Amino acid sequence: MAETSGTDAAPKKVVMVTGGTGLVGCGIKEFVESDAEAKEKEEYIFLSSKDGDIRNMEETKLIFEKYKPTHVIHLAARVGGLFSNLKYKVEFFRENILINDNVMECCRIYKVEKLVSCLSTCIFPDKTTYPIDETMVHNGPPHVSNEGYAYAKRMIDVLNRCYKEEYGCNFTSVIPTNIYGKGDNFSIDNGHVLPGLIHKCYKAKQAGEDLHVWGTGSPLRQFIYNVDLGALMIWTMRNYHEVDPIILSVGEEDEVSIADAAKMIASAMDFEGNVVFDTDKSDGQFKKTACNDLLKQKNPDFKFTPMKEGLKQACEWFCENYETARK
Ligand code: NAP
Ligand code: GDP
Repeated sequence: MAETSGTDAAPKKVVMVTGGTGLVGCGIKEFVESDAEAKEKEEYIFLSSKDGDIRNMEETKLIFEKYKPTHVIHLAARVGGLFSNLKYKVEFFRENILINDNVMECCRIYKVEKLVSCLSTCIFPDKTTYPIDETMVHNGPPHVSNEGYAYAKRMIDVLNRCYKEEYGCNFTSVIPTNIYGKGDNFSIDNGHVLPGLIHKCYKAKQAGEDLHVWGTGSPLRQFIYNVDLGALMIWTMRNYHEVDPIILSVGEEDEVSIADAAKMIASAMDFEGNVVFDTDKSDGQFKKTACNDLLKQKNPDFKFTPMKEGLKQACEWFCENYETARK
């Protein structure tokens, strides 16, 4: 049974976060630990794969029966950077389809009041006009490098509308840009660009070698700090009432090149060696510039952490937690 909150005796929301131990889960956790409304009115459960493999329906049902969530933030996914997506398209498709199908169907069966799932700007069409907005998710094929992941993720948006129409479910989704922060997966081979470069920079500094950036460094990305995304996902759960997705991103003016991001990391890590570009490696999608007008309209006062500040936090965290960080 959910605890009651404060003097009005209203039951607390039971918010279950799937994939709650990952990068975004860590961001949500850091945000809610210092948020008054969360303390007073919400109880949080952060799941990892140790609580059950949610590719499996029976294990997923057991989790829902155990925690009886009133609200679900669905983050669990097979996640990886460009190079992992290029290599394992089938696994990215199949595992994410299974995970998403099980979570959505359990939210229907166990009458969850609200489900917020996570898409990504890399699922948008490759050939598109810029900036990308929420209406464009299905307007053409995604970039070929991550088509397994992208098509699986797109189905969340399709099913959100189907579940609402057929069963009246209150499901929605958010579309974050590239994310970084403390608690990331710093794998060089399978991770995303910023954690991969932080790890490579750490090693290059130790060994007195060059920092190798893959590709030309010219692609452009918008990066959001995981605690900012955590705050915005909780805002979405409490205040955003549409079935259609909402882009959670820094502005178009904050887009940076991979080369500039690498320089920021070198500076945050006090790395004084050479930064070199391995141009035989893939650049992936050139850009996926997203428009955050809908977010600004609905949540005009939100202040993003400047990227230099967020990167300093992420780099410090990685150096201090080198032995135990995921890598
Ligand atoms: P992450 O750090 O890789 O964490 C993934 C989480 O999912 C972990 O808690 C993991 O648990 C859990 N998980 C994975 N497979 C599972 C399974 N079969 N059963 C149960 N739990 C499982 O991922 P993230 O970067 O936080 O991503 C969160 C969401 O944001 C994902 O939906 C992703 O698609 C989306 N997103 C990420 C980015 C990005 O740049 N990282 C960008 C856009 C969107 P264990 O740790 O126990 O394995
Ligand atoms: P994406 O944003 O979905 O394409 O995924 P990533 O986070 O993996 O970013 C890929 C971009 O960063 C591409 O342009 C890569 O060429 C470039 N990049 C440069 N160095 C690295 C690295 O060490 N790891 C990764 N994953 N990408 C890198």
